[in-house]
Amino acid sequence: MDLLQKVTALAKRRGIIYPNSEIYGGIGGFYDYGPVGVEMKNNLKKYWWKYMVDTRENVVGIDGTIITHPKVWEASGHVENFGDEVVECKKCHKRFREDEIDKACPHCGNKEFTEPRSYNLLFETHIGVVEGDKQKAYLRGEACQNIYLNFKNVVDSTRQSIPFGIAQIGKAFRNEVTPQKLTFRSREFEQWDMEFYVHPDDMKKYFDYWMEERMKFYKGLYRKEENLRFKQHPKDQLAFYAKDAYDIEYKAPWGWAENEGIHWRGDYDLKQHMEFSGTDLRYTDPHTGEKYIPHIVETSGGVDRTFLMLLFDAYEEEEMANGNTRTVLKIHKDIAAYKAAVFPLVSNKEEVVEKAREVFDLLSGDMKVVWDARGNIGKRYRYQDEIGTPYCITIDYDTLEDDTVTVRDRDTMEQTRVKIEDLKDTLS
Ligand code: ATP
Repeated sequence: MDLLQKVTALAKRRGIIYPNSEIYGGIGGFYDYGPVGVEMKNNLKKYWWKYMVDTRENVVGIDGTIITHPKVWEASGHVENFGDEVVECKKCHKRFREDEIDKACPHCGNKEFTEPRSYNLLFETHIGVVEGDKQKAYLRGEACQNIYLNFKNVVDSTRQSIPFGIAQIGKAFRNEVTPQKLTFRSREFEQWDMEFYVHPDDMKKYFDYWMEERMKFYKGLYRKEENLRFKQHPKDQLAFYAKDAYDIEYKAPWGWAENEGIHWRGDYDLKQHMEFSGTDLRYTDPHTGEKYIPHIVETSGGVDRTFLMLLFDAYEEEEMANGNTRTVLKIHKDIAAYKAAVFPLVSNKEEVVEKAREVFDLLSGDMKVVWDARGNIGKRYRYQDEIGTPYCITIDYDTLEDDTVTVRDRDTMEQTRVKIEDLKDTLS
């Protein structure tokens, strides 16, 4: 089994990611997060928000809708041109994005394909219920449009002035032709975006700044720095308005893969929305009075993609002293679903269970903890290792005597005796 298969199996087995609608045979490109996965994903989003919004005086957040005025997608260019070039294998009739083919069909090996055809990836829907009055609309193909739409609102309603950024985490939908590799290419996914509005003369400075900041973010998140790199978009493949663009890539089991894009968008987005809406979105500098269309540095990444890469990054199979192998997710401690697991050594001894409940209650006000009284301790360790719980706390007979518990470390498997009153400090 390769790492993708192993991670896919683990994700299902341990409540991290389930295929959506599985009892109906599944539906391609849609996934649900389970009880463990939802905690991790929420932590991941919080981690990003803290890094991008909470710790900066000049970035604010919004939370926009999935459906917007349909004209937004005309202005953005998505209605006309949001496609993948798709070819069909002449033998097995499977369809692929042109950029996925390396000479031969990945399914049957045949080398003949149809001419590429363009498919639009926007999901369509309708607003209104009365036939004839229904208005065609789209599920947003990228989350960032709401940020452009609210540029003026934010200027008018907050104390921000340029340079400043607007951040958002939210769903996006793409009718991908070949959803694949678990959540890597899915049809419903979340993006974390930040659009930083600057004076045109300051573009280079902030483009470089955000490149560095975003790489720093990922280096802090992943364990294996050597699996991260920048990839510059070739100049001849840039959109006409873009002066520069870099992807931050992570080395997935199948090769380098885009995690996030950092884009020099210039004034393209606001200009388009000015033209299509007829609204003046120019900014007036409060000090100099200069009126101009702000330019934009964009950082746009995928939450689900980062989540999947984190699973690859964290997954280890280790041989233990007793010759057995354990699977362990050495995931960043801030992202792990639970900070600690609390085990009563035995489940049939009232005093021990009581004491363990006290420990659970003590900790659960401050951190996310999980209870496990099922099976033997070895099995409980295996389970918590597989979901990446950094610490396991066992309450035993000695605890009743001296108020100490065993704390076992996920990565080193070392066990130490800690006083209950010192537990919170030890864990943090
Ligand atoms: P790709 O070339 O892989 O299709 P993209 O260049 O179209 O990606 P962007 O439009 O720049 O992607 O979107 C920003 C981020 O959103 C990507 O870096 C990726 O992390 C995420 N993303 C895009 N499409 C998907 C998808 N189908 N499933 C999951 N995440 C996605």
